Amino acid sequence: MPLSVRKIIHIDMDAFFASVEQRDNPTYRGKPIAVGGNSHRGVVAAASYEARVFGVRSAMPSVQAARLCPRLIFVKSRFDAYRKVSQQIRDIFFQYTDLVEPLSLDEAYLDVTENKKGLKSAIRVAQLIKEQILTETQLTASAGVSYNKFLAKIASDYDKPNGLKVILPQEALHFLETLPIEKFHGIGRVTAQKMHALQITTGKDLKKLSLPELVRYFGKAGRHYYQIVRGNDRREVKPHRIRKSIGIENTFSHDISHQETLEEELLALSTSLEERVKRNQARGRTITLKVKFTDFRVITRSHTAPQLLSTSDDWLPLATRLLNDSETSRQPIRLLGLSLSNLLSHSEQQLHFDFF
Ligand SMILES: [Mg+2]
Repeated sequence: MPLSVRKIIHIDMDAFFASVEQRDNPTYRGKPIAVGGNSHRGVVAAASYEARVFGVRSAMPSVQAARLCPRLIFVKSRFDAYRKVSQQIRDIFFQYTDLVEPLSLDEAYLDVTENKKGLKSAIRVAQLIKEQILTETQLTASAGVSYNKFLAKIASDYDKPNGLKVILPQEALHFLETLPIEKFHGIGRVTAQKMHALQITTGKDLKKLSLPELVRYFGKAGRHYYQIVRGNDRREVKPHRIRKSIGIENTFSHDISHQETLEEELLALSTSLEERVKRNQARGRTITLKVKFTDFRVITRSHTAPQLLSTSDDWLPLATRLLNDSETSRQPIRLLGLSLSNLLSHSEQQLHFDFF
Protein backbone atom coordinates (compact mmCIF):
# COMPACT_ATOMS: atom_id res chain seq x y z
CA MET A 1 0.00 0.00 0.00
CA PRO A 2 1.55 3.36 -0.97
CA LEU A 3 2.55 5.66 1.83
CA SER A 4 0.24 8.35 0.51
CA VAL A 5 -2.90 6.40 1.40
CA ARG A 6 -5.01 8.49 3.74
CA LYS A 7 -7.45 7.45 6.43
CA ILE A 8 -10.58 9.51 6.03
CA ILE A 9 -13.74 9.42 8.13
CA HIS A 10 -17.02 11.03 7.18
CA ILE A 11 -19.34 11.56 10.13
CA ASP A 12 -22.98 12.39 9.63
CA MET A 13 -25.54 12.75 12.41
CA ASP A 14 -28.71 10.72 11.87
CA ALA A 15 -31.80 12.78 10.98
CA PHE A 16 -30.09 15.54 12.88
CA PHE A 17 -32.67 18.26 13.63
CA ALA A 18 -35.43 15.71 14.05
CA SER A 19 -33.34 13.60 16.41
CA VAL A 20 -32.52 16.64 18.56
CA GLU A 21 -36.24 17.38 18.81
CA GLN A 22 -37.05 13.79 19.74
CA ARG A 23 -34.30 13.80 22.33
CA ASP A 24 -35.54 16.99 23.96
CA ASN A 25 -39.25 16.26 23.77
CA PRO A 26 -40.22 12.71 24.77
CA THR A 27 -43.71 13.06 23.27
CA TYR A 28 -42.10 13.16 19.81
CA ARG A 29 -40.21 9.90 20.29
CA GLY A 30 -41.24 7.05 18.04
CA LYS A 31 -43.45 9.42 16.06
CA PRO A 32 -43.25 10.85 12.56
CA ILE A 33 -42.05 14.42 12.93
CA ALA A 34 -40.88 17.06 10.50
CA VAL A 35 -38.79 20.05 11.49
CA GLY A 36 -39.62 23.23 9.58
CA GLY A 37 -42.76 24.27 7.78
CA ASN A 38 -46.31 23.42 8.77
CA SER A 39 -49.13 21.54 7.10
CA HIS A 40 -49.94 24.55 4.87
CA ARG A 41 -46.64 26.03 3.84
CA GLY A 42 -42.88 25.87 3.95
CA VAL A 43 -40.43 23.09 3.37
CA VAL A 44 -39.42 20.12 5.50
CA ALA A 45 -35.89 20.70 6.81
CA ALA A 46 -35.53 17.31 8.46
CA ALA A 47 -37.74 14.27 8.92
CA SER A 48 -37.55 11.63 11.63
CA TYR A 49 -37.05 8.04 10.54
CA GLU A 50 -40.67 7.34 11.46
CA ALA A 51 -41.69 9.99 8.93
CA ARG A 52 -39.30 8.73 6.27
CA VAL A 53 -41.16 5.44 6.21
CA PHE A 54 -44.02 7.40 4.63
CA GLY A 55 -41.70 8.90 2.04
CA VAL A 56 -41.28 12.24 3.82
CA ARG A 57 -37.90 13.74 2.93
CA SER A 58 -36.03 16.93 3.66
CA ALA A 59 -36.49 19.73 1.12
CA MET A 60 -39.99 18.39 0.38
CA PRO A 61 -42.84 20.93 0.42
CA SER A 62 -44.56 20.40 3.74
CA VAL A 63 -48.00 20.27 2.09
CA GLN A 64 -46.84 17.20 0.19
CA ALA A 65 -45.31 15.73 3.35
CA ALA A 66 -48.60 16.17 5.23
CA ARG A 67 -50.42 14.40 2.41
CA LEU A 68 -48.01 11.44 2.50
CA CYS A 69 -48.16 11.19 6.26
CA PRO A 70 -51.40 12.58 7.74
CA ARG A 71 -50.17 12.04 11.32
CA LEU A 72 -47.00 14.00 10.69
CA ILE A 73 -46.15 16.38 13.54
CA PHE A 74 -44.61 19.65 12.41
CA VAL A 75 -42.07 20.98 14.86
CA LYS A 76 -40.65 24.47 14.91
CA SER A 77 -36.89 24.60 14.43
CA ARG A 78 -34.64 25.55 17.35
CA PHE A 79 -31.33 26.63 15.94
CA ASP A 80 -29.71 27.36 19.24
CA ALA A 81 -30.17 23.72 20.22
CA TYR A 82 -28.76 22.44 16.89
CA ARG A 83 -25.82 24.80 17.04
CA LYS A 84 -25.02 23.66 20.54
CA VAL A 85 -24.89 20.00 19.49
CA SER A 86 -22.91 20.97 16.41
CA GLN A 87 -20.32 22.61 18.63
CA GLN A 88 -20.24 19.58 20.91
CA ILE A 89 -19.52 17.17 18.07
CA ARG A 90 -16.89 19.47 16.58
CA ASP A 91 -15.17 19.62 19.94
CA ILE A 92 -15.11 15.83 19.90
CA PHE A 93 -13.63 15.72 16.38
CA PHE A 94 -10.84 18.06 17.40
CA GLN A 95 -9.86 15.71 20.21
CA TYR A 96 -8.81 13.30 17.44
CA THR A 97 -7.50 15.51 14.66
CA ASP A 98 -7.18 19.11 13.58
CA LEU A 99 -7.93 18.11 9.99
CA VAL A 100 -11.68 18.57 10.28
CA GLU A 101 -13.71 19.89 7.36
CA PRO A 102 -17.30 20.61 8.38
CA LEU A 103 -19.82 20.39 5.55
CA SER A 104 -22.78 21.54 7.59
CA LEU A 105 -23.87 21.66 11.21
CA ASP A 106 -24.01 17.87 11.44
CA GLU A 107 -21.52 16.55 8.93
CA ALA A 108 -17.75 16.61 8.57
CA TYR A 109 -14.77 14.95 6.97
CA LEU A 110 -11.88 14.03 9.25
CA ASP A 111 -8.41 13.03 8.15
CA VAL A 112 -7.19 10.71 10.91
CA THR A 113 -4.14 9.30 9.11
CA GLU A 114 -2.14 10.78 11.94
CA ASN A 115 -4.39 11.36 14.90
CA LYS A 116 -3.90 12.85 18.34
CA LYS A 117 -4.63 9.53 20.06
CA GLY A 118 -1.91 7.75 18.10
CA LEU A 119 -4.39 5.12 16.93
CA LYS A 120 -3.42 3.06 13.90
CA SER A 121 -6.93 1.96 13.10
CA ALA A 122 -9.24 4.54 11.57
CA ILE A 123 -12.10 2.13 12.28
CA ARG A 124 -11.28 2.33 15.98
CA VAL A 125 -11.21 6.12 15.78
CA ALA A 126 -14.64 6.10 14.14
CA GLN A 127 -16.02 3.78 16.83
CA LEU A 128 -14.67 5.97 19.61
CA ILE A 129 -16.06 9.14 18.04
CA LYS A 130 -19.49 7.55 17.62
CA GLU A 131 -19.48 6.37 21.23
CA GLN A 132 -18.40 9.73 22.51
CA ILE A 133 -21.05 11.53 20.48
CA LEU A 134 -23.69 9.21 21.92
CA THR A 135 -22.46 9.68 25.48
CA GLU A 136 -22.21 13.45 25.28
CA THR A 137 -25.27 14.25 23.16
CA GLN A 138 -27.51 11.16 23.45
CA LEU A 139 -27.64 11.19 19.65
CA THR A 140 -26.43 8.72 17.08
CA ALA A 141 -24.12 9.41 14.17
CA SER A 142 -23.16 7.31 11.17
CA ALA A 143 -19.56 7.00 10.12
CA GLY A 144 -17.92 6.04 6.86
CA VAL A 145 -14.28 5.06 6.81
CA SER A 146 -12.13 4.84 3.72
CA TYR A 147 -9.06 6.21 1.98
CA ASN A 148 -10.65 9.24 0.33
CA LYS A 149 -13.51 11.67 0.80
CA PHE A 150 -15.72 10.29 -1.95
CA LEU A 151 -15.68 6.75 -0.55
CA ALA A 152 -15.97 7.86 3.08
CA LYS A 153 -19.05 9.89 2.21
CA ILE A 154 -20.71 6.99 0.41
CA ALA A 155 -19.83 4.71 3.29
CA SER A 156 -21.43 6.88 5.98
CA ASP A 157 -24.67 6.82 4.04
CA TYR A 158 -24.51 3.08 3.48
CA ASP A 159 -25.99 1.71 6.65
CA LYS A 160 -27.71 4.59 8.36
CA PRO A 161 -28.79 5.14 11.10
CA ASN A 162 -26.08 4.45 13.66
CA GLY A 163 -23.93 2.89 10.97
CA LEU A 164 -20.24 2.24 10.72
CA LYS A 165 -19.23 1.21 7.24
CA VAL A 166 -15.65 0.65 6.17
CA ILE A 167 -14.45 0.48 2.60
CA LEU A 168 -10.91 -0.86 2.56
CA PRO A 169 -8.62 -0.02 -0.36
CA GLN A 170 -8.68 -3.62 -1.59
CA GLU A 171 -12.50 -3.70 -1.46
CA ALA A 172 -13.21 -0.35 -3.06
CA LEU A 173 -13.26 -1.33 -6.71
CA HIS A 174 -15.59 -4.26 -6.16
CA PHE A 175 -17.79 -2.19 -3.86
CA LEU A 176 -18.15 0.52 -6.49
CA GLU A 177 -18.90 -2.00 -9.23
CA THR A 178 -21.88 -3.35 -7.33
CA LEU A 179 -23.13 0.06 -6.20
CA PRO A 180 -26.27 1.40 -7.92
CA ILE A 181 -25.26 4.58 -9.73
CA GLU A 182 -27.83 6.69 -7.87
CA LYS A 183 -25.88 5.95 -4.70
CA PHE A 184 -22.76 7.59 -6.12
CA HIS A 185 -22.29 10.88 -4.34
CA GLY A 186 -22.20 13.53 -7.04
CA ILE A 187 -24.56 11.74 -9.42
CA GLY A 188 -27.85 13.55 -9.04
CA ARG A 189 -31.34 12.41 -9.88
CA VAL A 190 -31.33 13.83 -13.40
CA THR A 191 -27.97 12.33 -14.30
CA ALA A 192 -29.05 9.01 -12.82
CA GLN A 193 -32.09 8.99 -15.10
CA LYS A 194 -29.92 9.76 -18.08
CA MET A 195 -27.60 6.90 -17.13
CA HIS A 196 -30.50 4.52 -16.74
CA ALA A 197 -31.58 5.42 -20.25
CA LEU A 198 -28.08 4.42 -21.37
CA GLN A 199 -28.45 1.07 -19.56
CA ILE A 200 -26.05 2.17 -16.86
CA THR A 201 -27.41 1.01 -13.52
CA THR A 202 -24.33 0.06 -11.49
CA GLY A 203 -20.73 1.09 -11.14
CA LYS A 204 -19.79 -1.89 -13.26
CA ASP A 205 -21.86 -0.56 -16.17
CA LEU A 206 -20.43 2.91 -15.70
CA LYS A 207 -16.90 1.58 -15.79
CA LYS A 208 -17.43 0.09 -19.25
CA LEU A 209 -17.63 3.55 -20.77
CA SER A 210 -14.39 5.05 -21.99
CA LEU A 211 -13.34 8.53 -20.97
CA PRO A 212 -14.22 10.06 -24.38
CA GLU A 213 -17.64 8.39 -24.25
CA LEU A 214 -18.32 9.73 -20.78
CA VAL A 215 -17.29 13.23 -21.81
CA ARG A 216 -19.51 12.96 -24.90
CA TYR A 217 -22.53 12.03 -22.80
CA PHE A 218 -21.98 14.08 -19.66
CA GLY A 219 -19.56 16.86 -20.58
CA LYS A 220 -16.97 17.86 -18.01
CA ALA A 221 -18.70 15.85 -15.29
CA GLY A 222 -17.89 12.75 -17.34
CA ARG A 223 -14.25 13.06 -16.33
CA HIS A 224 -15.28 13.12 -12.72
CA TYR A 225 -17.44 10.00 -13.13
CA TYR A 226 -14.55 8.26 -14.85
CA GLN A 227 -12.37 8.89 -11.80
CA ILE A 228 -14.82 8.19 -9.00
CA VAL A 229 -15.98 4.86 -10.38
CA ARG A 230 -12.32 3.85 -10.17
CA GLY A 231 -12.16 5.04 -6.57
CA ASN A 232 -9.98 8.02 -7.42
CA ASP A 233 -10.52 11.17 -5.44
CA ARG A 234 -7.51 13.28 -4.56
CA ARG A 235 -9.31 16.07 -2.72
CA GLU A 236 -7.75 16.79 0.66
CA VAL A 237 -9.62 17.34 3.89
CA LYS A 238 -9.46 21.11 4.18
CA PRO A 239 -9.92 22.49 7.65
CA HIS A 240 -11.38 25.90 6.93
CA ARG A 241 -10.60 28.28 9.65
CA ILE A 242 -13.70 29.95 10.86
CA ARG A 243 -13.41 33.62 10.16
CA LYS A 244 -13.84 35.76 13.22
CA SER A 245 -14.10 39.12 11.54
CA ILE A 246 -13.81 40.99 8.27
CA GLY A 247 -12.06 44.30 8.43
CA ILE A 248 -10.29 47.01 6.57
CA GLU A 249 -8.14 49.95 7.61
CA ASN A 250 -6.56 52.96 6.06
CA THR A 251 -3.45 54.89 7.11
CA PHE A 252 -3.64 58.45 5.88
CA SER A 253 -0.86 60.15 4.01
CA HIS A 254 -1.18 63.01 6.45
CA ASP A 255 -2.93 63.21 9.79
CA ILE A 256 -6.52 64.28 9.72
CA SER A 257 -8.12 66.50 12.29
CA HIS A 258 -11.19 67.69 10.41
CA GLN A 259 -14.30 65.92 11.63
CA GLU A 260 -15.91 66.29 8.20
CA THR A 261 -12.92 64.80 6.41
CA LEU A 262 -12.93 61.94 8.88
CA GLU A 263 -16.56 61.22 8.15
CA GLU A 264 -15.78 61.14 4.43
CA GLU A 265 -12.95 58.71 5.10
CA LEU A 266 -15.27 56.62 7.18
CA LEU A 267 -17.78 56.49 4.34
CA ALA A 268 -15.08 55.29 1.93
CA LEU A 269 -13.94 52.68 4.42
CA SER A 270 -17.48 51.57 5.00
CA THR A 271 -18.06 51.06 1.29
CA SER A 272 -14.87 49.00 0.95
CA LEU A 273 -15.91 46.92 3.92
CA GLU A 274 -19.25 46.23 2.27
CA GLU A 275 -17.45 44.85 -0.79
CA ARG A 276 -15.43 42.47 1.35
CA VAL A 277 -18.43 41.39 3.35
CA LYS A 278 -20.34 40.68 0.13
CA ARG A 279 -17.43 38.73 -1.31
CA ASN A 280 -17.40 36.54 1.80
CA GLN A 281 -21.18 36.19 1.80
CA ALA A 282 -21.03 37.20 5.43
CA ARG A 283 -23.30 38.97 7.84
CA GLY A 284 -22.47 40.01 11.36
CA ARG A 285 -23.76 41.79 14.40
CA THR A 286 -20.81 43.77 15.74
CA ILE A 287 -19.19 46.76 14.08
CA THR A 288 -15.85 47.94 15.44
CA LEU A 289 -14.12 51.21 14.79
CA LYS A 290 -10.38 51.51 15.26
CA VAL A 291 -8.65 54.85 15.60
CA LYS A 292 -4.92 55.53 15.76
CA PHE A 293 -3.88 58.98 16.86
CA THR A 294 -0.75 60.92 15.88
CA ASP A 295 0.88 59.82 19.11
CA PHE A 296 0.25 56.16 18.03
CA ARG A 297 -2.30 55.60 20.74
CA VAL A 298 -4.94 53.16 19.47
CA ILE A 299 -8.55 52.94 20.61
CA THR A 300 -11.30 50.60 19.45
CA ARG A 301 -15.00 51.15 19.96
CA SER A 302 -17.66 48.53 19.20
CA HIS A 303 -21.37 48.36 18.87
CA THR A 304 -23.36 45.14 18.72
CA ALA A 305 -26.69 45.38 16.95
CA PRO A 306 -29.67 43.17 17.72
CA GLN A 307 -30.08 42.43 14.02
CA LEU A 308 -27.62 41.18 11.39
CA LEU A 309 -25.63 43.79 9.50
CA SER A 310 -24.65 43.19 5.90
CA THR A 311 -24.36 46.51 4.09
CA SER A 312 -22.78 49.90 4.56
CA ASP A 313 -26.24 51.36 5.14
CA ASP A 314 -26.64 49.00 8.08
CA TRP A 315 -23.45 49.89 9.91
CA LEU A 316 -22.46 53.38 8.75
CA PRO A 317 -24.79 55.21 11.17
CA LEU A 318 -23.45 53.06 14.02
CA ALA A 319 -19.83 53.61 12.98
CA THR A 320 -20.39 57.36 12.62
CA ARG A 321 -21.78 57.50 16.12
CA LEU A 322 -18.76 55.56 17.41
CA LEU A 323 -16.50 58.02 15.64
CA ASN A 324 -18.27 61.03 17.07
CA ASP A 325 -18.28 59.57 20.57
CA SER A 326 -14.55 58.93 20.53
CA GLU A 327 -12.14 61.71 21.30
CA THR A 328 -11.43 62.33 17.65
CA SER A 329 -12.10 66.03 17.84
CA ARG A 330 -9.21 66.59 20.23
CA GLN A 331 -6.32 65.00 18.41
CA PRO A 332 -5.31 64.43 14.79
CA ILE A 333 -5.74 60.91 13.48
CA ARG A 334 -3.41 58.85 11.33
CA LEU A 335 -5.42 55.67 10.85
CA LEU A 336 -9.05 54.56 10.74
CA GLY A 337 -10.21 50.96 10.68
CA LEU A 338 -13.60 49.33 10.47
CA SER A 339 -14.47 45.68 10.96
CA LEU A 340 -17.52 43.48 11.18
CA SER A 341 -17.52 40.56 13.60
CA ASN A 342 -19.89 38.20 15.38
CA LEU A 343 -20.28 36.66 11.96
CA LEU A 344 -22.83 34.12 10.97
CA SER A 345 -21.06 31.25 9.26
CA HIS A 346 -21.92 30.38 5.69
CA SER A 347 -23.50 27.05 6.56
CA GLU A 348 -25.60 28.68 9.25
CA GLN A 349 -26.72 31.31 6.78
CA GLN A 350 -27.65 28.60 4.35
CA LEU A 351 -29.82 27.02 7.00
CA HIS A 352 -31.36 30.36 7.91
CA PHE A 353 -32.29 30.92 4.29
CA ASP A 354 -33.77 27.48 4.09
CA PHE A 355 -35.84 28.02 7.16
CA PHE A 356 -37.02 31.55 7.38
MG1 LIG B 1 -27.12 14.16 8.75
